Amino acid sequence: MNNFSESGLSPELLYGIAALGFETPTPIQAQSIPIILESERDLIALAQTGTGKTAAFGLPLLQLIDPTDDRVQAIILCPTRELCVQITKDLEEYAQAVEGLGILAVYGGAAITGQIQALRRKPQIIVGTPGRTLDLVDRGNLKLDGVRRLVLDEADEMLNMGFQEDLDRILATTPADKQTLLFSATMPAAARRISRDYMRNPAEINLGGGNTAPLRVDHQFVVVKGHDRYGALKRLVDAVPDIYAVIFCRTRRETQKVADELMQDGYKADALHGDLSQGQRDYVMERFRRNSLQLLVATDVAARGLDVDDLTHVLHFNLPDSSAVYLHRSGRTGRAGKSGISISIITGREIRRLREMAKAAHVDFTEKPVPTGRDICERRLFHFIDRVENTVVDNAEIDSFLPVVQEKLARMDRETLIRRFVAVEFQDLLNYYRDAKDLSAQPVGAAKGPRKPVRFTRFFINLGEKQKLSVGQLIGVVNEKTGKRDIQIGKIELLRNFSFFEVDSDYEQLVLDSFRNTSAHGVDLKVEVSVPDKYEDERAAKKQRVKPKYSRASSGPKPGFKPNKFKKKGNKKRY
Ligand code: AMP
Repeated sequence: MNNFSESGLSPELLYGIAALGFETPTPIQAQSIPIILESERDLIALAQTGTGKTAAFGLPLLQLIDPTDDRVQAIILCPTRELCVQITKDLEEYAQAVEGLGILAVYGGAAITGQIQALRRKPQIIVGTPGRTLDLVDRGNLKLDGVRRLVLDEADEMLNMGFQEDLDRILATTPADKQTLLFSATMPAAARRISRDYMRNPAEINLGGGNTAPLRVDHQFVVVKGHDRYGALKRLVDAVPDIYAVIFCRTRRETQKVADELMQDGYKADALHGDLSQGQRDYVMERFRRNSLQLLVATDVAARGLDVDDLTHVLHFNLPDSSAVYLHRSGRTGRAGKSGISISIITGREIRRLREMAKAAHVDFTEKPVPTGRDICERRLFHFIDRVENTVVDNAEIDSFLPVVQEKLARMDRETLIRRFVAVEFQDLLNYYRDAKDLSAQPVGAAKGPRKPVRFTRFFINLGEKQKLSVGQLIGVVNEKTGKRDIQIGKIELLRNFSFFEVDSDYEQLVLDSFRNTSAHGVDLKVEVSVPDKYEDERAAKKQRVKPKYSRASSGPKPGFKPNKFKKKGNKKRY
């Protein structure tokens, strides 16, 4: 089956398909639709989310409903409320031109009375979570004796979530001669057991292997130190100005924490996890779907029902426990013919686990460096310039302001104008990322080995206790004058009229140049390389050594420094 018109689907369903803009069937549709339509055979289909499997079972299911029979004829079981709602919506869209068809979603977390009332309107298709479906069966409101077809969607996930017993009971309650269709990304032992107990000689479709990732996802990872995980996440996000991503965390607590930090830092982000009420989850998902949020921080279970096709990235703040979950996560991007990027943030100790996961999932991972501050500034600058270049101005209102603007800027030449225009947009970003340290724990391609020991140069400076200088202030002066925050500083000796400090010898010239013709603490500064023992007399007299060894490792924005994304506190502008 190469196109829908030769699929045997009714003109009404072809109308719905065309209205949705589906042109050709996806592989899972091309293979499943004929089997479901033309044979009574049971079917096991191994396919990832995002491969078009809802239509693969939904279209033939809709076609095979007898509109003159008002019993429930088909039941679709799926793991979450969100997925129920999504499948129902999809079926309604496929069947928009079909008359006399009732589809009802039943799920927990919503009042059962409304669902009982809706059942009285005799829907022929039920889309339900196992728990609520069984509840309605047990109460006698849902009768399954007319069921001709039963779909287990995301079967592996339903089993993971502990629905095994419920599924068994529902399967046992429905007529034995029905057609059973099992759709799953993987085929764990429990799913095999279900197929053995409840399916007869099923046809099998395995699209790219049950444990194989969709092809359009580029799997990458970055290696960072554990305490740099959040910093790395921010950099990855900052490096992609139009990012639209789900960030997966392992626990609800971690999910909330990461989302809170992102929000505090000015990102359009929110959390999705099981501690939220259903109403809160719906609200967050709706905002994400409408693009009011760019980043959704989620646990695996909560993200199940999320139906968003155009994610640019899936980010793994922490690796999941199994390769199957990794594939589920990364399969959220690269959907519906688009390509996507999945990036795992790992520590050196997790490299082995990643390798094992790569092997089990048949995925090739590529190591990438965490973007540096400069990379980020460059990418955002180019993105900004591209936007300027491609913006079409067809708004007469804007034109009406131009004469005044032209007049105001008349004295500025083109070069100055461009410099200022870039500065206005980028100053904060540049300031924020200036001197930010490299977060890659092992710079890609760098040979492993012990760090080269730092050689220090000792400097004399004509500032001392008399000018009320402290060790911290001296470091501050070095930072300020050199414009660097990551130069390693060695010993510092504060004396009455002058002091000594050691600086990584690689920066010797920079220090000398930076202190030329400058002042601090009301003194014209004099800094020179210290000739040993030149000032021995005074030192002997003072014998005062303050903090004999002071070395400072921190660099980049200080811990706890949380500008509104890139802005300093108090400034409201956002990116
Ligand atoms: P699913 O795997 O059912 O969640 O589908 C993933 C996405 O692919 C959904 O947004 C569908 O609307 C879309 N889709 C399904 N079938 C097709 C098709 N034949 N052509 C284009 N898009 C499709």
